[in-house]
Amino acid sequence: MIYLDYSATTFVNDEVLDTYNKVTKRYIGNPNSLHKLGLEAKKIIDESTNQVKKILKTDKDVIYTSGATESNNLAIFGVVNKYKNRGKHIITTRLEHSSINEPLKKLESDGYKISYVSLNDDGTVNLDELNNLLCDDTILVTIATVNSEIGIMQDLDKISDIVKKYPKVIFHTDATQVIGKKSISFDNVDLVSMSSQKFYGMKGVGCLLKNKNLLLEPIIYGGKSTTEFRSGTPATPLIVSFAKALRLAYIDLDERYNYVFELSNYTKNKLSEISGVILNSTSKSIPHIINFSISNIKAETLLHALEEEEIFISTRTACNKSDDYSEAVFALTKDRERSMHSLRVSLSYLTTREEIDKFIEVLTLKIDSLNKLNYK
Ligand code: PMP
Repeated sequence: MIYLDYSATTFVNDEVLDTYNKVTKRYIGNPNSLHKLGLEAKKIIDESTNQVKKILKTDKDVIYTSGATESNNLAIFGVVNKYKNRGKHIITTRLEHSSINEPLKKLESDGYKISYVSLNDDGTVNLDELNNLLCDDTILVTIATVNSEIGIMQDLDKISDIVKKYPKVIFHTDATQVIGKKSISFDNVDLVSMSSQKFYGMKGVGCLLKNKNLLLEPIIYGGKSTTEFRSGTPATPLIVSFAKALRLAYIDLDERYNYVFELSNYTKNKLSEISGVILNSTSKSIPHIINFSISNIKAETLLHALEEEEIFISTRTACNKSDDYSEAVFALTKDRERSMHSLRVSLSYLTTREEIDKFIEVLTLKIDSLNKLNYK
């Protein structure tokens, strides 16, 4: 099998799974129980939280969630419901994940105004336009650090410099596709979402980092948890294995990044030699995500043709709701055809050059045979 869909999800690291199993068996108490078993579980959660903060070099509060979908929902609804009186205007981009787009659509139907800031040719946010869009009615700016389909990485500090001109506006970033790949600072962001399944951790756990002075209206009410912003018995094994996955991801982070950078360039060069292939990733895309379109062949057809040879790639993000085209590729290229034919290959430090060579070889053959069939 050749797995080239690491941005959809990663395999769980054996050590992380081991931690999960050990903690499940060893720390049986409810962290909110007052007896010894509860205190032990609480202690190991607190230690994990301290580790998470240390690794991410942040003093923000850590709110554990079931993953980035919940973190994004909590960030958006938590802000608008807590700070209702501040305004009804939200700024975002056309590069967001469905767990941002769908909550915003819901708010739009409730009377909020959603502005989509336009993109430069390289996919970065048009900062002048962002500046012009911000107004007294703006309550939230939510922009992904790295887009999941094309890999465009935004400059959070530059965006924040503009957002800060309106001190009441809250700045959230969905950092799901950058955590564990590249170390960046979230000092100038109020809220940050992430999910452990993207960095070789368990599925079903993530977190929202929150500036200490910021409040959120919960979206899940109930019993005591690790914070007042999200109820439910703290999932000790998931939380501890989240911290473990993060710790492992940050060992050799730079070396792994450099390796993927080289491999990505190699892959892009090989792809551009195939007739009919157009790269959609730009100079601002992280190397882990390579997006390209192939003229005349439906992306899904090619995906399944590769699957026949046990090669796994993706058409767009696994969670995208629109069936026939990629909204992100369309936002970047304004080309409907290209956005209907886009494919994503996502690399890991585990990906080998041999795998890429095999992928390119099979892709070339499949394109040839599909073209011969004149398949459209
Ligand atoms: N945001 C981005 C950018 C993502 O890539 C994903 C996962 N595809 C999510 C949010 C949602 O993460 P989860 O499925 O862990 O909730």
